[in-house]
Amino acid sequence: MVTLLIATRNAHKVGEIRAILGEKFRYLTLNDLPNAPEVIEDAPTFAGNATKKAVSLAMWLGETKRLEGNQVYVLADDSGLEVDALDGAPGVHSARYAALDSGKPGNSPTAENNAKLLRLLAGTPLAKRTARFRCVVALTPVILSVSGSASPVCYADEVELQTELFDGTCEGRIGLAARGQGGFGYDPLFIPEGCELTFAELGEEVKNRMSHRGKALALLSFKMMRRESHPG
Ligand code: IMP
Repeated sequence: MVTLLIATRNAHKVGEIRAILGEKFRYLTLNDLPNAPEVIEDAPTFAGNATKKAVSLAMWLGETKRLEGNQVYVLADDSGLEVDALDGAPGVHSARYAALDSGKPGNSPTAENNAKLLRLLAGTPLAKRTARFRCVVALTPVILSVSGSASPVCYADEVELQTELFDGTCEGRIGLAARGQGGFGYDPLFIPEGCELTFAELGEEVKNRMSHRGKALALLSFKMMRRESHPG
């Protein structure tokens, strides 16, 4: 069975990823590897951050040989919200949007991020509150068989070359006020295209079928299944 190390400690993300991909994989998260290195997400794109997380952790696992088996992959999701009226903000800064003003290190509480978004959009009519969630998932194999004498530079190149990226986008609008109890992050503010309810009101199953993460992971799942039925 293929093992996926989901490169996050965000329990909501883990729950969504597992619900979308189902029980055909064995899952681990960063909570299972307390010594895993902290990866700074400082790339200017979702693809850059997802790749950085997946490659760094796959290299660490390969070097430290913490996991057994030859079918181990790191799966890293980098995602966020782009609002057209704010020139694409918060984008890659979605998790720390409020902290950009206060200068506080680390991610900001969800309530502060959402309050900032509503404040900056005050007076913007619904028709002009168009936005999208984007998700890029990076999948990197853990190479456990590299000899101790291999150059770390070549090894890094090899791991990066084997990384595959999967994209998903979900178009919608930012509501006038937060609504609903489900999901996480900006879900109570995001109304997907064709709906009247927010992601937080629609519930997990409906969200996962139409979400940015659902779309990216459907592509990944298809590729993994095809690889299993046509190895080599
Ligand atoms: P990441 O962990 O760096 O990818 O941060 C992603 C941030 O984007 C999260 O902390 C949320 O604020 C936001 N985000 C990403 N995906 C979603 C989603 O599905 N719903 C709500 N907010 C999301």
